[in-house]
Amino acid sequence: MSVKATEPYDEGNIFARILRGEVPCRKVHETAHALAFHDINPQAPVHVLVIPKGPYVSMADFTANAPAELVAGFFRAVGETARVLGLEETGYRILANAGPHSHQEVPHLHVHIFGGAPLGPMLARRAGSRETGA
Ligand code: AMP
Repeated sequence: MSVKATEPYDEGNIFARILRGEVPCRKVHETAHALAFHDINPQAPVHVLVIPKGPYVSMADFTANAPAELVAGFFRAVGETARVLGLEETGYRILANAGPHSHQEVPHLHVHIFGGAPLGPMLARRAGSRETGA
């Protein structure tokens, strides 16, 4: 199910429950501002999620409403997580879904880090997709 980026924060979402310690995760890295853990359904040899420690649905919500210290700490933690994973040399991809067109499933801001193998083109082309000319 996709979520609207504009909907109110749902305290019962799975990542809120992970942050509260109610649901386990395979932790990769943790700071005062962020938690990084392995995706339960990996789409690449390395697939890790980084989430901020605060109730934000999307990147727009987070950057508009979170304190500057949390925004900086979160982005720092994303970079640190890529380093902890040993992906600096081979490279990696960062992706954040927001709202229905992106297929965001969990309504707590999360950044995906993919790596561990060549990842192919940035967006998969599918039959019937609209060409943007970009
Ligand atoms: P998105 O479509 O960007 O909202 O991605 C949500 C991601 O969360 C998916 O890649 C799921 O596999 C992942 N996910 C859902 N539940 C869990 C969980 N309990 N632990 C780790 N990853 C999860």
